[in-house]
Amino acid sequence: MRAAQEPDTATAAELRALAEQAGRDLEDAAALDILAWAAATFGKRFCVTSSMEDAVVAHLASRVLSGVDVVFLDTGYHFPETIGTRDAVEAVMDVNVITLTPRLTVAEQDAAYGPRLHDRDPDRCCAMRKVKPLEEGLAGYAAWATGLRRDESPTRANTPVVGWDEKRQKVKVSPIARWTQDDVDAYVIEHGVLTNPLLMDGYGSVGCAPCTRRLLDGEDARAGRWAGRTKTECGLHG
Ligand code: SF4
Repeated sequence: MRAAQEPDTATAAELRALAEQAGRDLEDAAALDILAWAAATFGKRFCVTSSMEDAVVAHLASRVLSGVDVVFLDTGYHFPETIGTRDAVEAVMDVNVITLTPRLTVAEQDAAYGPRLHDRDPDRCCAMRKVKPLEEGLAGYAAWATGLRRDESPTRANTPVVGWDEKRQKVKVSPIARWTQDDVDAYVIEHGVLTNPLLMDGYGSVGCAPCTRRLLDGEDARAGRWAGRTKTECGLHG
Protein backbone atom coordinates (compact mmCIF):
# COMPACT_ATOMS: atom_id res chain seq x y z
CA MET A 1 0.00 0.00 0.00
CA ARG A 2 1.29 3.46 -0.86
CA ALA A 3 2.04 6.17 1.66
CA ALA A 4 -0.30 9.14 1.89
CA GLN A 5 2.30 11.59 0.60
CA GLU A 6 3.01 9.95 -2.72
CA PRO A 7 -0.03 11.16 -4.71
CA ASP A 8 0.85 14.80 -3.87
CA THR A 9 3.46 14.65 -6.55
CA ALA A 10 1.91 12.02 -8.80
CA THR A 11 1.12 13.00 -12.37
CA ALA A 12 -2.37 12.62 -13.77
CA ALA A 13 -1.18 9.60 -15.76
CA GLU A 14 0.17 7.97 -12.60
CA LEU A 15 -3.02 8.71 -10.70
CA ARG A 16 -5.11 7.30 -13.52
CA ALA A 17 -3.05 4.09 -13.56
CA LEU A 18 -3.33 3.87 -9.77
CA ALA A 19 -7.12 4.29 -9.96
CA GLU A 20 -7.57 1.74 -12.70
CA GLN A 21 -5.43 -0.83 -10.90
CA ALA A 22 -7.28 -0.23 -7.63
CA GLY A 23 -10.59 -0.56 -9.44
CA ARG A 24 -9.58 -4.04 -10.55
CA ASP A 25 -7.99 -5.06 -7.24
CA LEU A 26 -10.83 -3.78 -5.07
CA GLU A 27 -13.83 -4.78 -7.20
CA ASP A 28 -14.83 -7.46 -4.70
CA ALA A 29 -13.61 -5.66 -1.57
CA ALA A 30 -15.84 -4.49 1.25
CA ALA A 31 -16.77 -0.79 1.31
CA LEU A 32 -14.68 -0.20 4.43
CA ASP A 33 -11.64 -1.77 2.78
CA ILE A 34 -12.08 0.41 -0.30
CA LEU A 35 -12.24 3.50 1.88
CA ALA A 36 -9.30 2.32 3.98
CA TRP A 37 -7.28 2.08 0.78
CA ALA A 38 -8.29 5.62 -0.20
CA ALA A 39 -7.50 7.01 3.26
CA ALA A 40 -4.10 5.30 3.39
CA THR A 41 -3.26 6.33 -0.16
CA PHE A 42 -4.40 9.96 -0.16
CA GLY A 43 -4.69 11.01 3.50
CA LYS A 44 -6.01 14.58 3.78
CA ARG A 45 -6.11 14.85 0.01
CA PHE A 46 -9.14 12.58 0.08
CA CYS A 47 -12.70 13.74 0.75
CA VAL A 48 -16.25 12.44 0.67
CA THR A 49 -18.95 14.31 -1.20
CA SER A 50 -22.48 14.05 0.13
CA SER A 51 -25.86 15.30 -1.11
CA MET A 52 -27.16 14.67 2.42
CA GLU A 53 -29.65 12.15 1.12
CA ASP A 54 -28.08 9.97 3.75
CA ALA A 55 -24.78 9.90 5.63
CA VAL A 56 -23.82 6.30 4.83
CA VAL A 57 -20.56 6.96 2.95
CA ALA A 58 -19.60 9.75 5.37
CA HIS A 59 -20.16 7.33 8.26
CA LEU A 60 -18.14 4.58 6.58
CA ALA A 61 -15.31 7.00 5.80
CA SER A 62 -15.22 8.37 9.35
CA ARG A 63 -14.52 4.84 10.56
CA VAL A 64 -11.25 4.71 8.62
CA LEU A 65 -10.29 8.42 8.64
CA SER A 66 -11.25 10.38 11.74
CA GLY A 67 -12.42 13.91 10.86
CA VAL A 68 -12.62 13.15 7.15
CA ASP A 69 -13.68 16.11 5.00
CA VAL A 70 -17.32 15.77 3.87
CA VAL A 71 -18.06 18.19 1.06
CA PHE A 72 -21.66 19.37 0.61
CA LEU A 73 -22.91 21.54 -2.24
CA ASP A 74 -25.45 24.09 -1.04
CA THR A 75 -27.10 25.11 -4.31
CA GLY A 76 -29.51 27.51 -2.61
CA TYR A 77 -32.39 25.34 -3.80
CA HIS A 78 -32.28 22.57 -1.19
CA PHE A 79 -35.21 21.36 0.87
CA PRO A 80 -35.02 22.46 4.51
CA GLU A 81 -34.77 18.77 5.41
CA THR A 82 -31.52 18.51 3.45
CA ILE A 83 -29.95 21.46 5.23
CA GLY A 84 -31.14 19.96 8.52
CA THR A 85 -29.50 16.65 7.67
CA ARG A 86 -26.25 18.48 6.87
CA ASP A 87 -26.39 20.29 10.21
CA ALA A 88 -27.09 17.05 12.09
CA VAL A 89 -24.20 15.26 10.38
CA GLU A 90 -21.89 18.12 11.33
CA ALA A 91 -23.10 18.02 14.93
CA VAL A 92 -22.91 14.31 15.70
CA MET A 93 -20.44 12.62 13.34
CA ASP A 94 -16.64 12.45 13.40
CA VAL A 95 -16.37 14.37 10.14
CA ASN A 96 -15.44 17.86 8.95
CA VAL A 97 -18.36 19.22 6.89
CA ILE A 98 -17.35 21.70 4.19
CA THR A 99 -20.20 23.58 2.51
CA LEU A 100 -19.61 24.86 -1.02
CA THR A 101 -21.81 27.59 -2.50
CA PRO A 102 -22.21 28.92 -6.04
CA ARG A 103 -20.76 32.32 -6.92
CA LEU A 104 -24.27 33.77 -7.42
CA THR A 105 -27.08 33.57 -4.90
CA VAL A 106 -30.44 32.45 -6.28
CA ALA A 107 -31.58 36.10 -6.29
CA GLU A 108 -28.45 37.18 -8.19
CA GLN A 109 -28.93 34.37 -10.69
CA ASP A 110 -32.59 35.33 -11.17
CA ALA A 111 -31.55 38.94 -11.82
CA ALA A 112 -28.85 37.94 -14.30
CA TYR A 113 -30.57 35.08 -16.14
CA GLY A 114 -34.26 35.47 -15.31
CA PRO A 115 -36.26 33.50 -12.74
CA ARG A 116 -36.62 29.73 -12.75
CA LEU A 117 -33.59 29.01 -14.93
CA HIS A 118 -33.93 25.43 -13.69
CA ASP A 119 -37.15 25.10 -15.73
CA ARG A 120 -35.78 26.72 -18.88
CA ASP A 121 -32.19 25.53 -18.97
CA PRO A 122 -31.44 23.05 -16.16
CA ASP A 123 -28.04 22.12 -17.60
CA ARG A 124 -26.93 25.75 -17.33
CA CYS A 125 -28.38 26.03 -13.84
CA CYS A 126 -26.59 22.83 -12.72
CA ALA A 127 -23.36 24.01 -14.35
CA MET A 128 -23.38 27.22 -12.29
CA ARG A 129 -24.82 25.88 -9.05
CA LYS A 130 -23.26 22.40 -8.90
CA VAL A 131 -20.56 21.57 -11.42
CA LYS A 132 -18.45 24.74 -11.13
CA PRO A 133 -18.54 24.99 -7.31
CA LEU A 134 -17.61 21.32 -6.98
CA GLU A 135 -14.78 21.69 -9.48
CA GLU A 136 -13.39 24.57 -7.44
CA GLY A 137 -14.05 22.85 -4.10
CA LEU A 138 -12.25 19.68 -5.12
CA ALA A 139 -9.17 21.49 -6.40
CA GLY A 140 -7.09 20.63 -3.34
CA TYR A 141 -7.94 16.93 -3.31
CA ALA A 142 -6.46 14.06 -5.30
CA ALA A 143 -9.43 11.74 -4.72
CA TRP A 144 -13.11 12.03 -3.83
CA ALA A 145 -15.67 9.51 -2.73
CA THR A 146 -19.30 9.38 -3.79
CA GLY A 147 -22.33 7.33 -2.81
CA LEU A 148 -23.05 6.20 -6.39
CA ARG A 149 -24.63 2.74 -6.66
CA ARG A 150 -25.01 0.55 -9.73
CA ASP A 151 -28.60 -0.31 -8.90
CA GLU A 152 -29.80 3.31 -8.79
CA SER A 153 -30.30 3.76 -12.52
CA PRO A 154 -29.08 2.44 -15.91
CA THR A 155 -26.67 5.39 -16.17
CA ARG A 156 -24.87 4.19 -13.03
CA ALA A 157 -24.84 0.45 -13.81
CA ASN A 158 -21.13 0.38 -14.69
CA THR A 159 -19.80 2.55 -11.87
CA PRO A 160 -16.33 1.28 -10.82
CA VAL A 161 -15.52 1.06 -7.10
CA VAL A 162 -12.40 3.08 -7.92
CA GLY A 163 -12.07 4.87 -11.24
CA TRP A 164 -10.60 7.87 -12.97
CA ASP A 165 -12.58 11.10 -13.17
CA GLU A 166 -11.40 12.37 -16.53
CA LYS A 167 -13.24 15.68 -16.27
CA ARG A 168 -11.62 16.64 -12.96
CA GLN A 169 -8.41 14.62 -13.32
CA LYS A 170 -8.96 12.97 -9.96
CA VAL A 171 -9.44 9.52 -8.51
CA LYS A 172 -13.13 8.80 -7.92
CA VAL A 173 -14.03 6.28 -5.24
CA SER A 174 -17.50 4.72 -5.07
CA PRO A 175 -17.22 2.33 -2.11
CA ILE A 176 -20.88 1.28 -2.13
CA ALA A 177 -21.16 0.90 -5.91
CA ARG A 178 -22.04 -2.78 -5.50
CA TRP A 179 -24.52 -2.23 -2.68
CA THR A 180 -28.26 -2.59 -3.11
CA GLN A 181 -30.91 -0.46 -1.43
CA ASP A 182 -31.36 -3.32 1.04
CA ASP A 183 -27.64 -3.11 1.92
CA VAL A 184 -27.98 0.63 2.54
CA ASP A 185 -31.10 0.18 4.66
CA ALA A 186 -29.39 -2.55 6.73
CA TYR A 187 -26.32 -0.35 7.33
CA VAL A 188 -28.48 2.61 8.33
CA ILE A 189 -30.33 0.49 10.87
CA GLU A 190 -27.25 -1.28 12.22
CA HIS A 191 -25.29 1.94 12.77
CA GLY A 192 -28.09 4.43 13.37
CA VAL A 193 -26.93 6.53 10.42
CA LEU A 194 -28.61 9.87 9.73
CA THR A 195 -30.87 9.95 6.68
CA ASN A 196 -32.83 12.72 5.00
CA PRO A 197 -36.43 12.68 6.35
CA LEU A 198 -37.74 13.03 2.79
CA LEU A 199 -36.72 9.41 2.11
CA MET A 200 -39.53 8.47 4.52
CA ASP A 201 -41.93 10.73 2.66
CA GLY A 202 -42.02 9.17 -0.80
CA TYR A 203 -38.80 10.52 -2.27
CA GLY A 204 -36.34 7.97 -3.72
CA SER A 205 -33.54 10.47 -4.32
CA VAL A 206 -33.20 13.97 -2.93
CA GLY A 207 -31.83 16.86 -4.95
CA CYS A 208 -32.82 20.51 -5.39
CA ALA A 209 -36.47 21.16 -4.51
CA PRO A 210 -37.55 22.55 -7.91
CA CYS A 211 -36.16 19.48 -9.73
CA THR A 212 -37.22 16.68 -7.37
CA ARG A 213 -40.58 14.97 -6.87
CA ARG A 214 -41.86 11.92 -5.06
CA LEU A 215 -41.65 8.53 -6.78
CA LEU A 216 -44.60 6.84 -8.45
CA ASP A 217 -45.17 3.11 -8.02
CA GLY A 218 -42.50 1.00 -9.73
CA GLU A 219 -40.14 3.87 -10.60
CA ASP A 220 -36.41 3.53 -10.03
CA ALA A 221 -34.87 5.58 -7.25
CA ARG A 222 -33.78 8.50 -9.43
CA ALA A 223 -36.98 8.80 -11.52
CA GLY A 224 -38.11 11.72 -9.34
CA ARG A 225 -35.14 13.85 -10.43
CA TRP A 226 -35.81 16.20 -13.40
CA ALA A 227 -39.02 14.20 -14.00
CA GLY A 228 -40.50 14.72 -17.47
CA ARG A 229 -37.12 15.74 -18.91
CA THR A 230 -34.43 13.75 -20.66
CA LYS A 231 -31.93 15.01 -18.06
CA THR A 232 -30.95 12.30 -15.56
CA GLU A 233 -27.70 13.58 -14.08
CA CYS A 234 -26.56 17.02 -12.95
CA GLY A 235 -23.14 16.84 -14.57
CA LEU A 236 -21.25 15.91 -11.40
CA HIS A 237 -20.91 12.30 -12.47
CA GLY A 238 -20.93 12.47 -16.26
S1 SF4 B 1 -30.94 20.40 -9.80
FE1 SF4 B 1 -32.34 22.01 -10.62
S2 SF4 B 1 -32.24 23.77 -9.20
FE2 SF4 B 1 -30.51 22.37 -8.72
S3 SF4 B 1 -28.80 23.23 -9.83
FE3 SF4 B 1 -29.70 21.66 -11.18
S4 SF4 B 1 -31.27 22.71 -12.45
FE4 SF4 B 1 -30.66 24.12 -10.76
